[in-house]
Amino acid sequence: MAEAIASGATAAPADADWAALEREALGHLRALLRIDTTNPPGNERAAADYLAGVLAREEIPFATFEKAPGRTNVVARLKGSGARAALLLSGHLDVVPAVAEAWQHPPFSGAEHDGCLWGRGAVDMKNMVAMSLTTLLALKRRRVPLDRDVIFAAVADEEAGSRHGSLFLVDRHPDAVKAEFVLTEVGGHTLHVGPARFYPVQVAEKGICWFEISADGPPGHGSMPHPHNAVARLGRAIAALSRARLPQHNTEVVSGFIRAMAARVPFPQRQALGLLLRPALSPRVLGWLEKRNLEQALPLNAMLRNTASPTLLAAGNKINVIPDSATVGVDGRVLPGQSVESFLDEIRRVVGRDVRFTVLEQHEGTTFDSRTPLFDAIAEVVARHDPGAVAIPYMIPGFTDAFAYRRLGAICYGFSPVQLGPEMKFSQMYHGHDERIPVAGFCWGLRVLYDLVSGFCGRGRG
Ligand SMILES: [Zn+2]
Repeated sequence: MAEAIASGATAAPADADWAALEREALGHLRALLRIDTTNPPGNERAAADYLAGVLAREEIPFATFEKAPGRTNVVARLKGSGARAALLLSGHLDVVPAVAEAWQHPPFSGAEHDGCLWGRGAVDMKNMVAMSLTTLLALKRRRVPLDRDVIFAAVADEEAGSRHGSLFLVDRHPDAVKAEFVLTEVGGHTLHVGPARFYPVQVAEKGICWFEISADGPPGHGSMPHPHNAVARLGRAIAALSRARLPQHNTEVVSGFIRAMAARVPFPQRQALGLLLRPALSPRVLGWLEKRNLEQALPLNAMLRNTASPTLLAAGNKINVIPDSATVGVDGRVLPGQSVESFLDEIRRVVGRDVRFTVLEQHEGTTFDSRTPLFDAIAEVVARHDPGAVAIPYMIPGFTDAFAYRRLGAICYGFSPVQLGPEMKFSQMYHGHDERIPVAGFCWGLRVLYDLVSGFCGRGRG
């Protein structure tokens, strides 16, 4: 790997080099999986120290940033000629909690079984951290001439709102992470629909409106029920909210995603997908799908409308006292292009007007332009590495670090490439028990990412 490439030579390592690079990338992933960065509390520093050690050995310039002790972010940069603006590869180091007893292999063991590396963070998203690091190392060692800086950011705190991670970097150290384009989660995994294969690339994400609904009523003694009990009133509001499907809003990204899938799958999926875009018929299709394939139905439903999930309850403090108020916390998710006000109007129409609303936190959804040279490059590299499969823009119902980087004007795509067989359900592993990544699929992703980055940022390319 140490030889320089002559000018005009290919930037792609030879096969023997690839085998070594794959082993190295798997070693980095295994090492990261063995470091417990469960958030809360996060403790990303141990993982950041590991990355810093690798970067220092390779003499790649980097810096670390902490908003609070232990919540470490690492940012490294390979300089290009400056002819074009930077590409940022960003992955978060923190992971969501794992219930160890429910796993077949311990969640922080980095164990290898059945052709997979197991561990919390295997797909969300220490895989992208390890692939991005290895891509940087390969570009550096092979002295690939670059027109764009390639920035690598391994950040803290994405799973709890990014305040110690990407938001902190964007607010306090914008020069470290400012880029024209960002690659992060969620996308680049194989999606099997019937005989067709897709690689969804996140180009849009929903916003949040976290709010409370409170009901009020006269207090009283629990021994003498009365009809204006605040707890019962709130209960009726929650029941109505849980039964309701909010109005459908077809966004350009989701309509395109559904049409692209429908065009490539046979009957009856083709017809069912088409009906999803017709608001008068779509609830029946979703209702049918929910009974048969809940895992497919839930994200489709969430892509087509604003949603509201009751998650927290608070009322009373004594069993024999009817309290004068009761409150439920609601996780609201709002489509790009929809305002918080119009979302709350939809909620009011469902729960009625005898309850109060308090908005706790909100930010709007985002849609990034998918007609860019980077998206074209992604589509090309996916088609080359998985002939017959297509990359298609899509929207996720959650949010990622993209909502922070967009504040610096970046165009962000969710693309952490990994090839999965039809038996691997990506969405079940995301935050689920037994999170794991196929070794072959990870190595495939490494090649895709390396080819994409070297092609898009290499001199005279992209
Ligand atoms: Zn994630």
